[in-house]
Amino acid sequence: TVRVRIAPSPTGNLHIGTARTAVFNWLFAHHHGGKFILRIEDTDLERSRPEYTDNILAGLRWLGLNWDEGPFFQSQRLDLYKTAVQKLLDQGLAYRCYTTSEELEALREAQKARGEAPRYDNRHRHLTPEQEAAFKAEGRNFVIRFKIDDDREIVWNDLVRDKMVWRGSDLGGDMVIARASEDGIGQPLYNFVVVIDDIDMQITHIIRGEDHIANTAKQILLYEALGAKIPEFAHSPLILNMDGRKLSKRDGVTSISDFQKMGFTAEALVNYMTLLGWSPPESTQEIFTLEEAGKVFTFDRVNKAGAKFDWAKLDWLNSQYIHNMPVDQLTDLLIPYWQEAGYPVAEGRERPWLEQLVALIGPSMTRLVDAVEMGKLFFSDTVELSEEGSKQLQQEGSSAVLSGILAALENQSQLTEAVAQDIIKQVVKEQNVKKGLVMRSLRVALTGDVHGPDLIQSWLLLNHLGLDKSRLNQAMS
Ligand code: GLU
Repeated sequence: TVRVRIAPSPTGNLHIGTARTAVFNWLFAHHHGGKFILRIEDTDLERSRPEYTDNILAGLRWLGLNWDEGPFFQSQRLDLYKTAVQKLLDQGLAYRCYTTSEELEALREAQKARGEAPRYDNRHRHLTPEQEAAFKAEGRNFVIRFKIDDDREIVWNDLVRDKMVWRGSDLGGDMVIARASEDGIGQPLYNFVVVIDDIDMQITHIIRGEDHIANTAKQILLYEALGAKIPEFAHSPLILNMDGRKLSKRDGVTSISDFQKMGFTAEALVNYMTLLGWSPPESTQEIFTLEEAGKVFTFDRVNKAGAKFDWAKLDWLNSQYIHNMPVDQLTDLLIPYWQEAGYPVAEGRERPWLEQLVALIGPSMTRLVDAVEMGKLFFSDTVELSEEGSKQLQQEGSSAVLSGILAALENQSQLTEAVAQDIIKQVVKEQNVKKGLVMRSLRVALTGDVHGPDLIQSWLLLNHLGLDKSRLNQAMS
């Protein structure tokens, strides 16, 4: 059975690139009825933080990328790695290297001067016990290197990129698999522990970003050395910004929690991430749930070229999700934004009122956070008059129209849609003015501006709070 994994390092919040990789893994697992495993790669003790782990777990949950096993933590599995390092040392496939950073630097300089690519020259591959002892006596630190033969050819059939061929000589010399540590075995590093874990967790397909291609070449050699079956590999294209460069912190938002704060729905974001490098079969529409995408997800529809991050497309998808969402569900999502903005959500604004407001503004929203600006006039006692709005109120007849509306309103015990329409008709008739003047004046009085959501619905909402009369009075003064 298919077993895939996502292996984030908790050195930052859940990144969009990691989340997209998680999406592809999730889809592939579901397509094959397999298992999706979560492993937290927290071996970098200096840069790993528990709050990042929390952020990563919360982000994956929010996106609906539920995992079947884990989370496993590498920091709790050190013994396993150390045993494996020892095994490679015992077999003579790895060795202790005492080259100092100054020596490495000098080597790089010399290579540079000769116009060569930097690589370790494997100088400590065959140290005698006496040489080792001498280095130790000098107080040198060591790293553990895994032997990579220059003339090795490494070939794999990548599920996205087809046949990949690397040479041992492309890999920078014998690779460091562990750093110095007190016990003499070393602190194992990413490229090594990832292989140990993937073997131990019986991962069948490794799906990750194309920035890991060189790692894959090295890791395949480790699988061989450890006598393990080599899994399949799929390297997904990178996410690029609109300039075609790798999306980075400089592009602003890159973490899932930021997208969440900006008002993207989990469903739209996950839908969008699925389309970052994958395209659905022609018969499938662009808007789909994870489950629907999982049914049709295959790697032959994943692009080799980088995927441009397109905000307009994401916004469009998000608006589609918002517009199609049941009002009560959308209300649940919007209340926190209003609370966060300090709006008096609870004061006289019961659930039916809130849902009516959501029904009113929802269809014009793109991001959930839009509800803050759009809802503002319904949560404050006064309105802000726009320039156009104040011009409108100075128009001839405007003031008389408003006092007519007020007078008619006083005679009504309850404002309904029909009553509101009647009042407008009545004022048009009594004052012999155009309906447009009445509507525009009323709109400015109630909302402060000449444009906005449906006027009658807005009026009903404000009337329920008793804010319409005070605003009409205010506009006349
Ligand atoms: N911890 C690695 C990363 O976050 C995992 C890479 C992999 O999937 O092997 O990039």
